[in-house]
Order: sequence, then C-alpha cells, then structure tokens
Amino acid sequence: LHRNPGETEFHQAAKEVLECLAPVVTKHPEYVDAAVIRRLCEPERQIIFRVPWQDDNGNVQLNRGFRVEFNSALGPFKGGLRFHPSVYLGIVKFLGFEQIFKNSLTGLPIGGGKGGSDFDPKGRSDGEIMRFCQSFMTELYRHIGEYTDVPAGDIGVGGREIGYLFGQYKRITNRYESGVLTGKGLTWGGSQVRTEATGYGAVFFLNEMLKTQGQSFDGKRVVVSGSGNVAVYATEKVEQLGGTVVACSDSSGYVVDEKGIDLELLKDVKERRRERIDVYAAERGAIFVPGGSVWDVPCDIALPCATQNELDGDAADRLIKNGTTYVAEGANMPCTPDAVKLFAEAKVAFAPGKAANAGGVATSALEMQQNASRDSWSFDYTEDRLADIMRGIHDRCLETADEYGSPGDYVTGANIAGFIRVANAMLALGVV
Ligand code: NDP
Repeated sequence: LHRNPGETEFHQAAKEVLECLAPVVTKHPEYVDAAVIRRLCEPERQIIFRVPWQDDNGNVQLNRGFRVEFNSALGPFKGGLRFHPSVYLGIVKFLGFEQIFKNSLTGLPIGGGKGGSDFDPKGRSDGEIMRFCQSFMTELYRHIGEYTDVPAGDIGVGGREIGYLFGQYKRITNRYESGVLTGKGLTWGGSQVRTEATGYGAVFFLNEMLKTQGQSFDGKRVVVSGSGNVAVYATEKVEQLGGTVVACSDSSGYVVDEKGIDLELLKDVKERRRERIDVYAAERGAIFVPGGSVWDVPCDIALPCATQNELDGDAADRLIKNGTTYVAEGANMPCTPDAVKLFAEAKVAFAPGKAANAGGVATSALEMQQNASRDSWSFDYTEDRLADIMRGIHDRCLETADEYGSPGDYVTGANIAGFIRVANAMLALGVV
C-alpha cells in the first residue's frame, strides 16, 4: 500500500486477487521464490502525459492521459482506454491489474494494460472529440504497436473514438497497422461481434452458470445497470435467450419497463442520438426514476454493466431480499467487497467481471488474429468462437475452484486460474 498511496481502487482489486492465492503459493513455493506476486503488482511501465486541445470556442483545454502497461508475459499489453472525469492513476491501475488475469483466463496470447484520460466527453461536439483524440494519440502513438501494446475502447471510448485515434496513428506513423487498436469499424479492419462481444459474452457466461443448475433464461426477470455498450448488448442477448430485461440506467437515473426493454428504441436513443435514459422512458411510456438505485427493482438476475463499485452492500441486501439468485459482472469490479461477501453468504451464484466480461477482450484478440492474417470472418463464425471461449472460461473457473477446495466459487476459480497461466509464463521468461 505504501508504494502506491491513494490508489484506492487498485488496492481493492489487488487485495481481492491476493486473498485467493494462499492455497496456490502453498502448493507452488516457486512462485514466491521468483517474487512473481510482487512483480505482478508492479506495472512494467506507466506513462502519464499532457493532452492539450482546443474547444469549439477556441479555448485551450488541458487533460491528463494515462497508459499503464502492466504485464506482457503472455503477449502484447492489451486493454481499453477510458475517457471519464473520474479517471486517475488508481482507476487505470485497477483496470490494468484486472486485465492481466482476465486476458490470461481467455487462454489467448495477450498481456494486460489499460489507459485513458480524465477528459469528459459528455456534451462535447464531434469536432471536439476528434481534436481531443488526435492530441491524445499524438503522444500515445510512440508507446503502442501491434507487437507492443494494443488499446481498445472502454467507458466513453467507442467506435467513433477508435476511428479518430486510428486515423491519427496512421497519419503520424504512415503505416496502416490494423493490429495497433481493436474495436475498429468493419470497413477498416474491425471484427464482426466486437461491438456486441462484452455484453453477449457476459450473458453466455451466465447461461453456462444457469445450465450447471439445470436452469435457463426462460421467463427470468433481469435488471441491467448502465445503458452503454456492455449494457445494450447484454440486454440484446438476454432477450434472444428468452429472459426479460425490466430495467436499465445511466448516471442520471433508471428506467423500469415491465414490458421488457425496447432494444431498437434504446439503441436509437443511446447509440445514434446520444441522449439520456429519460428520453427513452418518455418515448416508450415507461417509468423514469431520477437518481436512485436500479438495484431496488426486483429481479431473478442482476447484471451490473455500468462502472466500478456501483453495487454496494445495501444494494446487495435489497437484491437478496427481493429474491435475486444470480449476479454476473458485465462491468469491471461493479460490486463492492461487502456486496460480494453478502452474495456468497446468501448462496447467490456470482460471476466476477474478470471472467464474465472477458468476451470483449477475447473478441479483440480475434480481431488481432484477423488483422494478422488479412482475413475477416462471418458474424456467426465469430459469435460461435466467442461462445466457445466463454464456455471454456466458465469451465476453467469451476474446475480450478474445485481443485483448490472452493467448489462452485467463481471468484476463487477465476483468480487462481488467471494467476497460474501468467505466473508460469513469468517463471519461464526469467527475472525480467
Ligand atoms: P459506456 O461508456 O458505453 O457505458 C457506460 C454506462 O455506464 C453508461 O450508461 C454510463 O452512464 C454508465 N456509467 C458510467 N460511469 C458511471 C458512474 N460513475 N455512475 C453511474 N453510471 C455510470 O461503457 P462500456 O459499456 O464500454 O463499459 C461499461 C463497463 O464495462 C465498464 O466497467 C468497463 O470497464 C466494462 N467493460 C467494457 C468492455 C467493453 O468492451 N466495452 C470490456 C470489458 C469490461 P452515463 O452515460 O450517464 O455516464
């Protein structure tokens, strides 16, 4: 802690992983001898830089940019960029740390990293977003590359931003290096299913959890938080599998729609018009609750898909009292440690983000494969690969939890399985 003062979210994420590793280091003292855990907690490289840009009124604005290259034992650093005013080093490090284990769990050759800026895209014009992205990339370009570090999107960074970032990278380097970023558009090197992948993947994971208990989505009431990329496509897949999403949210409040969320309208409001969730409620004739907590809405399944620490102990308590039996984290670390503890005590089946939301980065790795082979796969083929990967992660978590004496515990399973693969690679690569 004293090495990284004030980095609250990083401490939280690291503690959660380290608490699960006691049985592993007992069985494998070689990890301790090689200081694997200490090395894992220290990023290989952290870059912090100035991002100046001009707004539409000609005023010079200033933001701070970050890229934390955490661990590259398994492959090039890989992880998204987040543009949100709350971004600081502690958030980027928590996300980068989680990313190491998540990427390891996918079984694909990708290391862990994360980046972003405290830039707030809300209310900014298209031109301002473009100028910001260009300025951000003017520094970032020298640190990234197909074999080095491959950023993608996250909160506040979607297809539009990846386009501006890629355009600037291409201009500065004079290279059409498709493999340098993922989440690209389909006509310029992107992959089918990447947009849908994190939300779809979380629901595939949950579907495997349901199956292990002889259940399905049929007739289940589901609440999703957020209404961004992950939330929208989680909702889409739940509806395809027979469940009903009765509520979703954004930072202004939540909407309750007992008929089930109208996905076309939600996409129109959120993706095309970039409006707030109350606009959806008004046009749909659904209930809008300003502020408040979407976790007050009774449901069988809760899918937190907005942001870190959005579901605390009180919210978990209400969900449990209202009969929720499954929770899968579409977002990164949306449940606080108190909430996770309460779910475990109440025997709520709980999937941690590093397993449940790994479908996004897995499909990014599939995008890298397609870029490397100058190929593009069909939607169905790519979706099948995603479903296979999620099934594999699910089974790996359960098998590992069993092996280390915590049957049915997805948190322990994910942390240990993710750790062992990267730790073995670190041992093989020597003290570097
Ligand atoms: P988006 O920016 O597309 O959407 C984020 C959603 O969460 C919005 O509805 C936003 O509401 C809401 N939100 C964000 N911050 C807050 C906050 N502080 N309080 C309340 N609501 C908030 O992001 P994504 O959907 O891409 O990401 C969502 C989560 O999923 C993040 O934790 C991200 O790290 C994780 N994730 C994303 C992946 C991806 O492929 N995109 C991959 C793996 C994980 P508003 O618009 O009002 O801010």
